[in-house]
Parts: sequence; C-alpha cells; structure tokens
Amino acid sequence: MKAIRKFTVRAVLPESLAALDELAGNLRWSWHEPTRQLFEHIAPELWRRIGGDPVALLGAVDPARLQELAHDHDYVSGVNLVRDDLRNYLEQPRWYQELEGAKPASIAYFSPEFGIAAALPQYSGGLGILAGDHLKSASDLGVPLVGVGLFYKAGYFSQAISSDGWQLESYPLLDPDGLPLSVLRRADGSPVQVSLALPDDRTLHARVWEARVGRIRLLMLDTDIPENTDDLRQVTDRLYGGGGEHRLLQELLLGIGGARAVRLWSTLNDRPEPEVFHTNEGHAGFLGLERISSLIGEGLSFSEALQVARAGTVFTTHTPVAAGIDRFDSSLVRRYFETDLLPGVAVDDLLGLGAESYPGGSPDVFNMAIMGLRLGQHANGVSKLHGEVSRRMFSGLWPGFDASEVPITSITNGVHAPTWTDPALKALAANRLGTADTSTADWASPVVSDQDLWDVRGDMRRQFVEDARRRIGAAWLVQNPGGLIPAWINQVFDPDVLTIGFARRVPTYKRLTLMLHDPERLRALLLHPEHPVQIVIAGKSHPADEEGKRLIQKIVQFAADPELRTRIAFLPDYNIGMAQLMYPGTDVWLNNPLRPLEACGTSGMKAALNGALNLSILDGWWPEYFDGQNGWAIPSADAATNSAERDRIEAEALYELIEHQVAPPFYERNADGVPERWVANIRQTLAGLSPELNAGRMVREYVEKLYRPAGVSEARLSANDYRAARELAAWKSRITAAWPGVSVAHVESGGVATVPQVGDELHLRAHVQLNGLAPDDVTVQVVYGRSLGGDDLTDVSTQALEPIDDVQGQDALADATGSPASGMPTLFTGTVELDRAGGFGYTVRVVPRNDLLISPAEMGLVAVAS
Ligand SMILES: *Cc1c(COP(=O)(O)O)cnc(C)c1O
Repeated sequence: MKAIRKFTVRAVLPESLAALDELAGNLRWSWHEPTRQLFEHIAPELWRRIGGDPVALLGAVDPARLQELAHDHDYVSGVNLVRDDLRNYLEQPRWYQELEGAKPASIAYFSPEFGIAAALPQYSGGLGILAGDHLKSASDLGVPLVGVGLFYKAGYFSQAISSDGWQLESYPLLDPDGLPLSVLRRADGSPVQVSLALPDDRTLHARVWEARVGRIRLLMLDTDIPENTDDLRQVTDRLYGGGGEHRLLQELLLGIGGARAVRLWSTLNDRPEPEVFHTNEGHAGFLGLERISSLIGEGLSFSEALQVARAGTVFTTHTPVAAGIDRFDSSLVRRYFETDLLPGVAVDDLLGLGAESYPGGSPDVFNMAIMGLRLGQHANGVSKLHGEVSRRMFSGLWPGFDASEVPITSITNGVHAPTWTDPALKALAANRLGTADTSTADWASPVVSDQDLWDVRGDMRRQFVEDARRRIGAAWLVQNPGGLIPAWINQVFDPDVLTIGFARRVPTYKRLTLMLHDPERLRALLLHPEHPVQIVIAGKSHPADEEGKRLIQKIVQFAADPELRTRIAFLPDYNIGMAQLMYPGTDVWLNNPLRPLEACGTSGMKAALNGALNLSILDGWWPEYFDGQNGWAIPSADAATNSAERDRIEAEALYELIEHQVAPPFYERNADGVPERWVANIRQTLAGLSPELNAGRMVREYVEKLYRPAGVSEARLSANDYRAARELAAWKSRITAAWPGVSVAHVESGGVATVPQVGDELHLRAHVQLNGLAPDDVTVQVVYGRSLGGDDLTDVSTQALEPIDDVQGQDALADATGSPASGMPTLFTGTVELDRAGGFGYTVRVVPRNDLLISPAEMGLVAVAS
C-alpha cells in the first residue's frame, strides 16, 4: 500500500530531556562531538542505521528508552551541560566581535546548494560542501552571516548501480517537518511568504525555512505550497534538475526571492539589513538586480543604484569549465523581466549586464558569470592558480589590460576541520596535545609518538573497511533482492593494505578512469605480491551526463573481476556520511584532473586533515601547498599535443609514482611495525596543512580582503542619501563619454646614457590629450618591465606621472602644435630608476582615477601610447 500523504510526528520528550530538542534543532551537532555522543548513546545501532541524524533518531527511538534515560541522572546532567555549552557558544563574543575598526553588521551569503550534514541533503558536490563549511566557520568565528538558499524537495538524487554498472537515479522526497528546520513566521504566527511576479500575470510564492547552523541562520525558499499552481510548486523540486526555464525560475527565486526573504528576516528578527551580499558562484546573481530595484524605489537612477549594489557585492567564481557557467537565451530572460518582477528596472539595462559583449561572446546569450562580475565590485577565484586562470578567462571584459590586472583576486578554499576530522584523531589531539582543535594542535610535538599516529590511522582504515563492506553488501542486496550476501564481500579491502581513495563528481575533466588507462598495469599494482594497493572509488554523475555514466560503468566493470573485486570497489551514493569515513580511512588521496580545470578541489584537503597523503596533479590548491613531503605531485603533460597523448603520459607517471614512490615506504616497517618515513609524512601533513586548510583561515580572509572593504565602500556610497553614489555615477558617465577622445599624444624621454646602466634615471614627459577631463580625473602611468624579445613586458610595474601646471610650457607647446588652448595636451612627468640589468621596456597609459574604484582596470577604460 502506498501512502497518499506523509508527515513526520515528532516525539514528545520526557521533561528532564527537553534540552535534547534544543540540541537537535541546531545543526551544530553535525560537528560537535559531545552532542553527537549524547544522541548516539540513546540507541547506538539505530543512530548508525539512520546515518547520525538526531531528529530522525528522536522520532524513531522506542519511547521506553527515553523514559529510562530520563531517570538516568548522569545522562540528564550530561544533556544539560551540553545544552549550556551550546548557549554559551551562541552568545559569547568570538573572533569577529574582537575585530577593531569598521566591519559589516550583517552579511548575506547566497548559494544554490548547502552541504551541512548528511541529514540535510541539499548539495551535489564541492560547491555545496564549501558553502556549508563557510557557514560553520563563520559561526565559529562569530561572523554575522546569514545564509540564503533553496529547499529542494528531493535534494540532488540518490545513486544506485545496476548489475551492468549503469548509474540509476532516484529522488526520494524529503519531509521538511522531519528535518531540523522551522518555518519563518511573523510575530502573529503567520508564515512569511515571498512572491515573484511572472509572465502572463502569474505569481510564484515561496515559504521560507530556517535552519540553525550554530550561530548562523540559513534561509531556504520552498515553492511546494498550496498557494502555487501545480507546475510552480515544482520550481524547487530538485537541485540542478531541469534546464532552461526551470533553472531560470530557480535562479530568479534564489536571487530575487532570497534578497526579499533576507530583508524580511532581518526586520522580523530586529537585525540590521545586510550591508554586504556574497554570491557563491553566479547562480544567485539576480540578487543584485533586486537591490537595484529597491534603490530605484528610493529615488536613485539605474546607474546610481548600480554603484551602490556593486560596492556591497562579492562574487566568487568557481569554475573555468564553460559547462559550469549558467547561460540563458536572452529572449527568455527578456520575457521574465518584461513584467512587474523588478519595478523600476528597464529590461535593456538589465540585459546589458549579462551580455557577452566581447570578442567571441554570443549576442543572444545572457551570461550569469558576466553579470556576476558586473554586479560585484569584489570578485575572487578559489585558489591562487584559479585566480590566475579566471583573470585570463574573463580578461575580455577589461580590454587593453594585461590579465594580471583584471580585478579578480583569489582566496583559497578551506574545509571545516571539526566536521571533517575523524573523532579518533580529535581524541588523540585532546588526550595528548590538550586540545580537540586539530587545526591548531601541535602535531610536530613528540608527545604524540609515531606509534600513536600509526595506530590511529590503522583504526580509521579498519573503520572505513567495515563501512565499505556494509555498503557493498547493501548494494548487492538491492541488485539481488532476497539473496544471501556472498562471502567475498566480507573480504573486500584488507585493513592492512595501502588504501587509495578517489571520490568526486564525475565531470569529464576530473578523469575518473585515468587509472584504467593501462588495465594490466593497474591490475599488477593491485595484486603486487609485496606492496599491494587497494582503491576505493565513489562519485555521482549528473543525471543528464551519459558520458559520466559510461565512465562509472567502466570502473564498475573493471572492479567486477573476481580476482580484483576485493582490491578495488566502487561505492554507490557518495555523500557526506560516506565521505566522513572515507577520507580518514584512506592512506592516499588521488586527484588527477585536467590541469587547470580543477578550481580548487576540497576532498584532498579533508583527507589531509586526517593525515592522508595527497597524490595529485599540480592543480587547484595543491601547487600552493605541496612541499615534497606531504604527498606527491603527478607531473602534468601540459605540452602534450592531444588529449589521448596527455592521458597516456599522465597515467604512466601515476603508475610509476604508485609503484616506486608511494607503495614502498608504506610497507617499510621498523621493529615495532611502524613505517617511519610514512609517519613522518603524516606528521608533516597534519602539522603543516591543518591550520592552512581549515575553513577558519578562509573565512578570515573573506572578512579581511572582501567583506570589510565591501562594507566600507557600500557605506561611503550610501551616506547622506547616496550622495557619493550619485556623484560616482555622474563621474563615470562623464569619463565614459570623454574617453574616446583621451590619448597619449606624445612621449619624450631623457636622462639615460647612450649605453644605459643600472642606476640611470629615465625622465619622461608625456603629453596627454584629456578631451576636457581634469588632470585628477585620470592617472597617467609609465608601465615598465622586462622585455625579452617581442613587444610583451614581463615583471611589470607601474608608476604614476605627475601633471605639470606649467602655463608657459603649455603655451609654448600650444604655439608649437598650433592647437587651440582648450584641446591642448596636458603635460605629465616623472622618473623611473633603472634598477636591474637586462632588457627593459616601457609604455605610457592613461586610466580613470577615482578613489571609489578598487583597481585602475575597473572601468575597462585605458588609453595607451602608440
Ligand atoms: C568534499 C566533497 C566533495 C567535493 O570534492 P572535490 O575534491 O572538490 O571534488 C564532493 N562531495 C562530497 C560528499 C564531499 O564531501
């Protein structure tokens, strides 16, 4: 019998255990070990079966057990202690509260997905996990963030594998009442609703769920309510499910609906409205338009409102892969905005923001990343290398500037250590090093012996092997209902064999099957008589990605070989719960993307926090942190002429590394059975990487490099009824209008001997046609650097030249050139010292100057001497 309707009935707790409700209602339990232990203690086997979910546990446990615990004095006082600890955590001042100087009172963080806990499956992969970790670390640091996302009724999808290795998707529906969520309500108890005007006089309504993530609130918009027509109820059906219009509706809801929701939430909670808006990837970019619309409502013009919205917006780009960027037909976008959706905003102004108006762009496309960059004055990539790649990739928006000057910075991702460090390692740190904070523990200290480290690594490997066998057994039963689990499944993986992990989404660039390049070679590594390795693989392919599913199938089929199936296995349904056991349980974490397409990659970071060594292409975060001891670098064949050649070279390097460098030291044991060299590398990894890879480092960088500057600019532009915003808009329009007539008319140089020597001074006089602009509207710069054949400069520096108020000189020039005084060039001069030998080159250029610009390149205007 199938139910026509389902809901969850929450347990009524005995009075003495009432605090359990409070603890279950705040997702801090997802990283707070003492809280987890309290719930686990209620019913350990049930806790494991339901994947460590307190709300589900309280709903499922036998009430008699709760009655029993209600009379257990120690347990009750434990519960109350942890409850008090939570309250302290929520109220005490933390890092942000101690910061001196101006700082935003509220920051809204928008993301299409949030991966916080296995119990709240609202993520597909790295982007969502990162967002979850961002909220958690913001909570730990006391950063006044509020998260904004959507609530997807079926999350992403659950993955099963058919007997012929094909990925099968299912979409189990979530019941929000069975999750740690509550509906956002007004003081009178009525639920808050956000509404968006749609074409054909339709309206989309959403309710708002609120989750507590430590100190942080996460708002999630949900369209599955009776006020919507049936089709509109499906807008938030699944994550990344539909294409085109469905996707656009989700993004309109996230950006515009989300900005409205966060404003309502602030008012209802008596909190300041956000001053800074951070969009995690371009999907939420419409939030800037909602802000522009409301500023227009306050009497600003479009371009004045744009200045304010830009100043307070942070845009993080996450991918150099074109398929990762949302692009819509502009005609579709036009149809949605030729409505009452955004009062005051003209459709053409809006379309201009997403237009690919640069060489190679498509005229019919509305590009969310491009809009993100135009609406966000502050932008970043997610590792140093990805910052460089992004500056190059988007340089078409700043024509005339070198890629290095494109105003996109980088902040390398991090991962939330308390969430991703195994409890066994936390316990070791607590027992030996006096702190459960593994990211600051002194792992170099001899107080933790090699034996300690090796033992805990062994425990974690064993725990993972057991979990893997359970999962493989369960998957076998799904394929063979009613069967008896065969004995070989209890031999899958050996708790003493070097274990390599590879788990991630399956887009082509991540090259899931690179290891299969030479199947015989791989087989030999797996079955090596002295130094065998075993490999665990997991990952979901996007349901529409047939190629990804074929890759999974290849792995599954290879692993089905009876001789190999205990050494290599694919675990279905990769998720947070699996990941939390897999990272600690593997000795080596493998990553072999096509460089430089992995923007950062965070699974290797999570593995490293548990003492696993990384074996990775130098892509994403790895080139920043690889030090020769904390793992291995797989050389990338960037110069290979085609992709098959490249795969071949890189796969061979991978096999060589595993056979000769990775496996031997793992099996090289001392008299106590400890591999000393290997353990030294574990120690190096824990000591060197833990503080750096922790998301606390990342969130502090966001605060210092982006949120605070954005808050300051936003406040400056908004003060005195937006005076500076009005002035800036007027100034920009004056500059833009005059710019085509701005030029470097003529450059004179002197001061350098016939044979230039280090220490010589190069004197420059540049005559610049300002076309009516004032000298202080611009900066005239000499741009100089090394010149190594060709015209291109490297190691470039710039230095401003000063305007000369020399009326006589100007008159003389006017006489000489015969040009009328008003159109006369202005003279700028300066000196550059030649401080190093070798080829030297320079040019002179003019760029707009205004201290409200964050970079000379910001407006994309430049006039270079020719
Ligand atoms: C960390 C994580 C990811 C992202 O891993 P990448 O290395 O960035 O691809 C994806 N899924 C889950 C469940 C994770 O925990």
